[in-house]
Parts: sequence; C-alpha cells; structure tokens
Amino acid sequence: MAVLHNKFISLHLLFLISIGYGGVFISAELQRFQHPAKDDGSLSFLVLGDWGRRGAFNQSQVAFQMGKIGEKLDIDFVVSTGDNFYDNGLTSEHDTAFEESFTKIYTAKSLQKQWYSVLGNHDYRGDAEAQLSPLLRKIDSRWLCLRSFVVNAELAEIFFVDTTPFVGMYFSETEDHTYDWRGINSQKAYVSNLLKEVELAVRESSAKWKIVVGHHAIRSVGHHGDTQELIDQLLPILQANNVDFYMNGHDHCLEHIGDSNSPIQFLTSGAGSKAWRGDIKGLNKKGLNFFYDGQGFMSVNLTPTDAEIAFYDVFGNVLHRLNTSKQLHSFI
Ligand SMILES: [Zn+2]
Repeated sequence: MAVLHNKFISLHLLFLISIGYGGVFISAELQRFQHPAKDDGSLSFLVLGDWGRRGAFNQSQVAFQMGKIGEKLDIDFVVSTGDNFYDNGLTSEHDTAFEESFTKIYTAKSLQKQWYSVLGNHDYRGDAEAQLSPLLRKIDSRWLCLRSFVVNAELAEIFFVDTTPFVGMYFSETEDHTYDWRGINSQKAYVSNLLKEVELAVRESSAKWKIVVGHHAIRSVGHHGDTQELIDQLLPILQANNVDFYMNGHDHCLEHIGDSNSPIQFLTSGAGSKAWRGDIKGLNKKGLNFFYDGQGFMSVNLTPTDAEIAFYDVFGNVLHRLNTSKQLHSFI
C-alpha cells in the first residue's frame, strides 16, 4: 500500500479571500489529488454506487465481477458515487461496517487500488464525518472520501461534488430520518460556495476529458427521477465548460442518457447491491439510450482521443457500450 501513497499526492488547500461590493466573502479552492495515467497515456477505472450491505443483495457477486473486469482492464482506481454504507452510513469511524462492507468485500487483487468516494444521502443519515476521517485510511489505505474534491489524472480531470446538500427535501421533509448537517451551517451558503468552486475548477481545467461525479442524478428515469436542484444550479455550469460526462448513483440502476443541449452524457452507476426496484419513471425519457434496473457497475477507458464506457450486470456481461471520440469535435 506504500506505493499508493507515493502515487497520491495531496496539494494543500488554498484559501482565496476576495472583497466584493457586498462585503468580504471567502471562497476555498477544491482540494486536489494527483493520480498518474498509465505510461501509454491511457486511464481506466470502474464506477460503482449504492453498495455497502455487508455483502448482501448481490454486493459480493458484483464485487467478484468487478475484480475480474478490473484485472482485464488493468484499472488505475475505483470511483464510488456514494451511499457507501446502508442503511444509515457509519455510526462512527470505529463502525465495523467499514470493514464488513468494504475491506472484506472488494478483495480482488485488481481492486487494491485507490478508491475515490463521495457521500450519498444515506451516508448523511449516519455520522457523515466518520467517512471523511483519516482513521479509515489507516484501516484500509484504499479509502478516500471527501465532500468535494478534484482528481487530476493527466488526460482526465474528475470533479467530485457533494450533491446531498443541494436537495431541499432533506432539509424540509426529513420524515423519520436525521441528517448529519455538521459542517453545513447554511444550505444556501454551502451550495452557493460549492458552485463557485466547481465553476472555477471546471473552467480552468485544460484536461482532455472533464468528468463530474456526484451522488444524485441530474437526469434519471429511475425511482428518484431527475434532480431539479442540480438541473437548475449545477447543469448550466457543466454545459458552459465542456464537461464530457456526469456520473452518479442514487437510483439503483445502470443508465445512459444524452443531453439535448450539450455533448454531456449522463451515466448512472448506482447498482452495487440492492436493485430491481421495478418502478421506472416515465416523466422525462428525453435522451434515454439505456436503462437497466438490476445490479452491476460501469467501466471507463480513456485515451487522449477516445472514451469507451461499458455497463456490466452481476454476471459480468456487457449490457451497453458508449464510444465517443474527441477528434470529431476538434474538426468541427
Ligand atoms: Zn442515494
């Protein structure tokens, strides 16, 4: 695991203090991590969401297939789109669910790589800060979960966005759930500041591929459907800054939806364990290319000019592929 630490250099958080007409506001740049691409300039990784159930609901079977595909593709890392531990996140940084649902499940050799994770709404129902704790990295050095951050992987830059605080319902209609909003004093200020940070980061990026990862879907025909707050607030930033892919979990399915106003492809990988919900929202099927209600995961293969994305079921069968090329854009 020492090798991972060498490959994985954290740059310090830089605070920019600006004085505007409305007074002083503080905007922090997103924390950045460097992850080198392969020697031939390519990059590959797996994307998984909505998984931690101590192996149940086919979590272990999905993990087994990830190990096989991970080896075949010689993956560089794994991305988790959140809802990492069910039902209510971790109770503390000492919660044994961390090892029972993560360390002891994703045991394949090919999966002993860095994992980059965001928090989902279920993670916020437990001790959200526990998942951010450096102590977890001591228990399993693969683990890295932060609220929002950037991974610079040379040909690709991946922008991880904490989407749970965008969703008004979690503040106003909490039903029987308690959310851990420590660190988020004001929803409005938190979201507004985060949007500024994301906009700055994607605008300044010169990476060939710009990928944004969040827990909640911008577009989905699954159980939860589209997330209006993200359509209104986050999507315009992605459209204006040539983002290629938005990847998310939350709906326990696999899906691929195209955007009608930009080249952005919306990719859902939230099928890491419990799936087969059976209720498909027919409200907005615009741009729908692929939807699968069952368990599985996604792989991403990038070269400076080409991207290949594949969706797999619990048996490792490829259900859908998306191929896109950058050269096409440069000639237009
Ligand atoms: Zn969720």
